[in-house]
Amino acid sequence: MLEARILSMLEAAKEEGLLRRVLAVERRGRLIRADGREVVNFASNDYLGLAFDEQVVEAMREAALREGASSTASRLICGDSPQLRSLEENLAALKHRPAALALPSGYHANIAAITTLTTQGDFILSDQNNHASIIDACRLSRATTLIFRHNDAQHLDQLLSQTNADSLRLVVTEGVFSTDGDICALEDITAVVRRHNAVLMVDEAHSTGTLPPRGRGIEEFFNLVGCVDVVMGTLGKALGVHGGFLSGSPALVDMLINYGRTGIYSTALPPPVAAAAAEAAKLLLHKGESLIAELHSNIKLLSRALMERGLINQEPQTPIIAVVVGDERRAVAAREALLERGFLVAALRYPTVPKGAASLRISVSRSHTEQDLVELSSAIAQTLKEIK
Ligand SMILES: *Cc1c(COP(=O)(O)O)cnc(C)c1O
Repeated sequence: MLEARILSMLEAAKEEGLLRRVLAVERRGRLIRADGREVVNFASNDYLGLAFDEQVVEAMREAALREGASSTASRLICGDSPQLRSLEENLAALKHRPAALALPSGYHANIAAITTLTTQGDFILSDQNNHASIIDACRLSRATTLIFRHNDAQHLDQLLSQTNADSLRLVVTEGVFSTDGDICALEDITAVVRRHNAVLMVDEAHSTGTLPPRGRGIEEFFNLVGCVDVVMGTLGKALGVHGGFLSGSPALVDMLINYGRTGIYSTALPPPVAAAAAEAAKLLLHKGESLIAELHSNIKLLSRALMERGLINQEPQTPIIAVVVGDERRAVAAREALLERGFLVAALRYPTVPKGAASLRISVSRSHTEQDLVELSSAIAQTLKEIK
């Protein structure tokens, strides 16, 4: 019975071109060893190259020698550490907030925030393209979830008009969308949220450490610091380490400590991880402007090359660049062919993106060289020509 169920699930995925496999990976800096081949890595979320930064790695080593490998318990039992507290101070400063709470991952953070802020009778208004962790959080919440069309403030406005104004209405969106690098229409969304007296939460997994001017996130990008009620982020993307966080008022953080089950019932981040993330956040705080300028000069270089070849038709503003391929099998074949040519990119398929809208997702890093970027664009053009 169990075996038959498992095999039929795998067969179904295979038939739709959706079967996934784990790449055997060895080292994932600018270059990555994947399936035994060393290729240029355009699939990592380490946008600033901080995962290999000497100070970040040294902070991790030092903390491990002093505090050991594990936090040994959840935060409320005895999993706290000076490294975690200093991490939270830096994160709060980065987000212009009085407080922040670190959690075991961004996934944990989304679940904690959404399930504690909403209850039966409330409404969650969630962007159609939101990340799986937000979707799962909505499913776990007892509130009613309404999906608004991607980045469509007018649709959000309509949906909010249909909700009970006495209930809590939590609007959730992303600063930079993980699948195609779109930037949230924050000005319009904020205006609608304010008009309806709703609450705004933004997932800044990909907007922290990527957006000008200083990499602090979506609010600074739009010059709207303070407009978001609940800021969520991850430490595993541009910050180059691991973990997640929420930032806002001290009362919000206290509430999350008391009610957030993903924090209460999960082992706290280990001190070495917290120390490395604290160092990365400090680097972003002090050197954000130059780190972001370097990243964006790489984004410009690649986007120009891709546009010249007609592979994209809009100039990207973020390090996530999607080349739409359409068919799932074609996207996978293109990824394999690019691997042969020396480049690793991600092939995004359903359920990450809608069926029939598969894409190659390129993640640009500050650590790429000019040659990496130019050669990637010609390799993609060549590959897509060959794979019909
Ligand atoms: C990666 C990601 C998360 C989850 O963060 P982790 O720290 O990797 O668990 C949440 N939201 C978005 C938009 C993401 O891209």
